[in-house]
Amino acid sequence: MSQERERFDMEACVLEEWGGQLTVETVPDPEPGPEEVRVDVRACGVTRTIENAIQGGLADDPALTPRIPGHEFAGVVDAVGENVEGIRPGDRVMTYFYLTCGECDACRRGETNQCTNFGGWYGVHCDGAYAERAVVPASNVLPLPDGTSFAAGVIATDGLATPLHVCRRASVTDADTVLVIGAAGRIGIHLSQLAALRGAQVLAADVDDERLEFVDSVTGSAVEPIDARGDGFADRLREATPHGDGPTVVVDTVGDLETLRAAWEALGMGGRVVSLTTHHDRAFAPLLKEFVVKEATLLGSRHATKDEVVRAARLLGDGRIEPIVTDRVGLADVPAVHERIRSGETFGTIVLEP
Ligand SMILES: [Zn+2]
Repeated sequence: MSQERERFDMEACVLEEWGGQLTVETVPDPEPGPEEVRVDVRACGVTRTIENAIQGGLADDPALTPRIPGHEFAGVVDAVGENVEGIRPGDRVMTYFYLTCGECDACRRGETNQCTNFGGWYGVHCDGAYAERAVVPASNVLPLPDGTSFAAGVIATDGLATPLHVCRRASVTDADTVLVIGAAGRIGIHLSQLAALRGAQVLAADVDDERLEFVDSVTGSAVEPIDARGDGFADRLREATPHGDGPTVVVDTVGDLETLRAAWEALGMGGRVVSLTTHHDRAFAPLLKEFVVKEATLLGSRHATKDEVVRAARLLGDGRIEPIVTDRVGLADVPAVHERIRSGETFGTIVLEP
């Protein structure tokens, strides 16, 4: 059987240990086991989330290495294992990041991001898609709509699915002014577009001129770039909102406490603050009376459901949201891209095309 195949090996980016360097290596083609499929990877996001995983921020058990990272990807199914139904070679697919049980109450009601039997993350607890081909549990494979490009599929899996979840958590409507902290990132730039699509006024905050110009160049008139640097950020937020009332929704994709405190200070009445960051060592604790006086809400938002990933792909496929790809790279470039992510130089979505 194996001698009939043309391919035995593939190129992949391999991490030998958490916190180590990625190296491009030739490794055996992965074989799909029962309930698994193999996907020819056409596009995979090179992201800050993966950098966090590489640094051991999601899991740091040495038994999980060596590891091929990469979780936001889209491609074409090229083989299926035993007991896989409804997925065939040739299917265009994208993937879901969380390894969920499918059986707990949360999974059964579709809140897959809240699985109580959580099996970890694709690309952390099993090999991922910084490779020419990747094996994926069949339950983590989602259909990529015909009109949605592979790069847009990458963005759907997290860059836009997560904003869809945020907008649901915070009930964003045309009555809102939404402050996006870290607007030039892949989550921030697609969240800014989505909030605008829902009719909200959007204040897109970031911290250097190049990032703010980028945000301005790819968004419409409902999105106003705003400089988060230095003193007076709270005042600038009030000035940018109707009657100086302050933003009604704040979404923090960065975790910088000084910026968050200024946003909290400027928060409008009935305002909601949504945290997306998972820093292990940062706490934000407003006075209880501040919650009462403003009827404020502090919310966490955890990734997205499978349904939101599919909806995100449709929004990108039919042009309601523009997929913002800032760079396309090959496998050999990935280690250097992670250096740039580490030094904070990147913005938008960088897509690996192996
Ligand atoms: Zn579950």
